[in-house]
This record gives sequence, C-alpha cells and structure tokens, in this order.
Amino acid sequence: KEELNIIQGALELRTKTVEDVLTPLSDCYMLSSDAVLDFCTMSDVMQSGFTRIPVYQNEKSNIVNILFVKDLAFVDPDDCTPLKTITQFYKHPVHCVFNDTKLDVMLEEFKRGKSHLAVVQRVNSEGEGDPFYEVMGIVTLEDIIEEIIKSEIVDE
Ligand code: ADP
Repeated sequence: KEELNIIQGALELRTKTVEDVLTPLSDCYMLSSDAVLDFCTMSDVMQSGFTRIPVYQNEKSNIVNILFVKDLAFVDPDDCTPLKTITQFYKHPVHCVFNDTKLDVMLEEFKRGKSHLAVVQRVNSEGEGDPFYEVMGIVTLEDIIEEIIKSEIVDE
C-alpha cells in the first residue's frame, strides 16, 4: 500500500508544479535586510527552527538574500552585527523559479546542488498596468519529498 502511494507520488512529479507545494510568502519566516543581529533577533531565529531564512528589503516580496543559520556560528550577539555584514560576506545566491515549474524539473535542480530552497515567482498580468513578477512563496527539497511519500515530514 505504501509502495503504491510512493509510486503514485513519483509519477505525479511530472504533472504537479511548485505552486502546488510551496510555502506561501505570508507563512515564511523572514528577516528584514536592516535587521541587527542582537540577542533578541538571534534567539528569534533560533526559535524559528528554520535552516534558511529569506532576507527581504523594504517589502517581503523583495527577497534579496538568504541567510543560513550556520552563517551565525561566529556571530556574537553582543556585537550587534548588522545582518547586511553577514549576507554580504556569504552572498548565498537567491534561486528563483517560475510557479509552473514541474516538480520533476525542480527535483533535478535541487539534486544538482547549490541551494535546496527556491523562491517561487509568477507573472502577474491581472491588473491594468504592465505585467510584473510577483513572489508567491518558497519551495524546498523537503516539499518535493513530501509529495513523493505523500505524508508530512515532522521536523526535528
Ligand atoms: P528546514 O531545514 O529549515 O526545516 P526544510 O527544507 O526541511 O527546512 O523545509 C521544511 C518545510 O518548511 C518546508 O515546507 C519548507 O517550505 C518550509 N520552510 C523552509 N524554510 C522556511 C522559512 N524560512 N519560513 C517558513 N517556512 C519555511
């Protein structure tokens, strides 16, 4: 029974898109690019439990960097280091994909390495003005694996 589910999940990777599995922007834990890495911010980051944290400038839809929690290993909260100092040092690339990217393609991209988190964007042409790119949320390798095994992975 479980094997059948997994086979079905694997087959569906070709038809489902990242939009079907993403974590919406409103649910994303993010930091503002002008945050200061004081004790308060750092303990909030630790408590969030996430490994990768999108960093936005001015508005949440404008993701400019990704902070990895491991980047904080050498940061002393007493120094009140500006977040920018850290993001500019590590410069992890922000990997963007379109909402209609199929999950099998996304899985291949994640397998190729670099980042296991991608920012999902779409072209919004609903309004009167010119179409524009709109960030919908984020997708990680775990979201795709959950789709294959068809069950939630409970985090550590
Ligand atoms: P982590 O290693 O941080 O636990 P995973 O890659 O294992 O992250 O993803 C677990 C789930 O959490 C996925 O559904 C993913 O979309 C979501 N997720 C990852 N990072 C964040 C974040 N910063 N804010 C909100 N959700 C996130």
